[in-house]
Amino acid sequence: MIVRVAIPRPLWSLFDYTVPGHLAEPAPGARVRVPFGTAELVGIVVETVVDADPGIELKTLAEVVDDEPVVQADILQLLRWAAAYYHHPFGDALFSALPAALRQGQQLQPLLQRFWRISDGAANVDLARAPRQRDAFNALVAAGGWASHETLLEAGVTARLLAILHEKGVIEAAPPPPARAATSAGPDFELTDEQRDATDAISTALGGFACLLLDGVTGSGKTEVYLQAIARAIERGEQALVLIPEIALTPQTLARFSQRFGSACVYHSGLTERERARAWQQCRSGGAHVLIGTRSAIFVPFSKLGLIVVDEEHDGSFKQQDGFRYSARDLAVKRAQLLDIPLLMGTATPALESLHNAQRGRYRRLTLTTRPGAATATAIRLLDIRGLHLDDGLSAPLRSAVGTALADGNQVLLFINRRGFSPAFLCTSCGWSADCARCDSRLTLHQMPPGLRCHHCGYAQPLPARCPDCARPALTAVGVGTQRSEAGIARMFPDVPVLRIDRDTTRSAARMAAHLETIRRGDPAVLVGTQMLAKGHHFPRVTLVGVLNADAGFANADFRAPEHTAQLIIQVAGRAGRAERSGEVLIQTFNPDNPALRALVSEGYAGFAATELEQRAAARLPPYRAMALLNADGTTMERALACLSALGERLRSSPVEVLGPIPAPLARRARRFRCQTVLLADHRANLGAALALLTGTHSPTRFAGVRWSIDVDPYDMF
Ligand code: ADP
Ligand code: ZN
Ligand code: ZN
Repeated sequence: MIVRVAIPRPLWSLFDYTVPGHLAEPAPGARVRVPFGTAELVGIVVETVVDADPGIELKTLAEVVDDEPVVQADILQLLRWAAAYYHHPFGDALFSALPAALRQGQQLQPLLQRFWRISDGAANVDLARAPRQRDAFNALVAAGGWASHETLLEAGVTARLLAILHEKGVIEAAPPPPARAATSAGPDFELTDEQRDATDAISTALGGFACLLLDGVTGSGKTEVYLQAIARAIERGEQALVLIPEIALTPQTLARFSQRFGSACVYHSGLTERERARAWQQCRSGGAHVLIGTRSAIFVPFSKLGLIVVDEEHDGSFKQQDGFRYSARDLAVKRAQLLDIPLLMGTATPALESLHNAQRGRYRRLTLTTRPGAATATAIRLLDIRGLHLDDGLSAPLRSAVGTALADGNQVLLFINRRGFSPAFLCTSCGWSADCARCDSRLTLHQMPPGLRCHHCGYAQPLPARCPDCARPALTAVGVGTQRSEAGIARMFPDVPVLRIDRDTTRSAARMAAHLETIRRGDPAVLVGTQMLAKGHHFPRVTLVGVLNADAGFANADFRAPEHTAQLIIQVAGRAGRAERSGEVLIQTFNPDNPALRALVSEGYAGFAATELEQRAAARLPPYRAMALLNADGTTMERALACLSALGERLRSSPVEVLGPIPAPLARRARRFRCQTVLLADHRANLGAALALLTGTHSPTRFAGVRWSIDVDPYDMF
């Protein structure tokens, strides 16, 4: 017997090995140990070889690690498709989809499916004088009176305390709790007609392949629709996978799901490897009903997956930006198709690709147009700031709007997509500017902790007191980041707390929690932050949203920048006026005649998207053509360009349009020189065929001192 094996190396080929007679025949998806070069590696069997070439002498498998395949057939199929679609080496893709323990060839610890529940005799036992036992018992009560051993350990209860409670007859060992259907813990409100229609459409779709795009304004109750649809799937004995953007997994989100379904598993990069492996096992064994995870959760195996939900489907974090550059949203479509189940994608700002798919009838569009309980829709207004003096980024009209909102007892949110104090630090005397020594970029001035930092490569240096060139004390901060507007607001409104939310502050979970608690209490406050504000959180007391500068996003050379900027603005705007208070959004701009911005303000996202799609069609850009990017970075620009020129040369007779190579907008990053070539094709099949000319075993793909890669359906051009 001969098996074909994928190896965890960025190699285009699979490798054949003979299975010696004394070993059991490994099934596809099982791990094996194989000799490879001078080493022994863990590989995964992809298939059994029937038409082996008798002329070639093969090496022999050293060991079969798994009796049962660790990679399920559907996952194997999904990854095989993905590796081909994204032109990434299959072995590398396959291994990157496994929890680390499995990659290294370890056996997973068998899941201890131990559960405890409150026993009938509990009422007769007095724990008043055993406070630790009482706390342990209360933890079980808080978990619904029926919980897994692990859940209780995570809640801080020790195994010893559980043993004592068991001995006293307070708790008893139990089977896994039955899935809680929505009926037992449904919402305490009536669904709106639109929510009901959407829920019905998804319920009807269960059991077959369908893509549903739930286009619902922020706060319209999309999450409730997900919960309802998941409940229907669970009633059918199926599991559900919910994909969410990286930073949207807040304790509130999790609480909403576990409240409804008793428990929900999570899977994201913040977990330990052990926790990830456990979630992986629970889904595979069927023990978990719902998994909430970030993009890599698309590869988690399920015993009976019945529904996939992608929340905020437009979000860029679903696209992996390095290595195996897949889009989890797009793979969700493929996985749903392979399993013959529905995919539900929700957002207030659909990606233009998704709208296009809806127009072509590939996705079914469901809409939620109103916010249940909200008084009025949010009004968006442009503030023309040409010629106005800006005080730490705020014009006088915006400042007075903030003052009024605070005086009325409301909260204000200010959005500025730049962290740090200021994006430039200059000498007013000689023109020196603080630049990164390793990148073509300026250093950002940070005040807390003080210093100059590069946001591209992480380089940091202390703040000079005088100009390093002319030695005069004429250094000045130019431009506004979150730290500066925070300081400015604190000065203008000294009686009101100013809470900054950006990557620098959210690193501290405790600080973030304190911020969110202040916001939840509802007293007047100003929130200043980056796009982190736009996701996951609801701020019902915010009545005014200020966008300090919308222009940079629209002026960016990336053809997707207007789309992403519009999505960001609408998402941030959606934080205002949730509860019963209506909201107002003010957008400062130096360019009030920008057609994209005008369309967004006067017609909303749908109007903007329609205009933008027309422009894409006219320019023959995605979604009207398929796109891939070839990226290269090298020790010199000449080498990097030569690599892409050589690759482009090979595509000369293919029907794809080859644009470039040209130096990337940030041409030097972390001492590497970067360039790119854009490939455009009228038909996706042509793009695939062209990229196949650059990959695979027949193709000499090495260039000295240069790394190059393919990005199919790039999210960011730069
Ligand atoms: P979205 O996900 O669309 O932004 P959510 O699902 O988070 O919106 O809903 C926003 C708020 O509205 C939540 O507090 C939710 O509990 C509430 N809500 C949802 N549906 C209804 C409804 N039918 N009636 C009253 N409140 C609702
Ligand atoms: Zn100087
Ligand atoms: Zn740098």
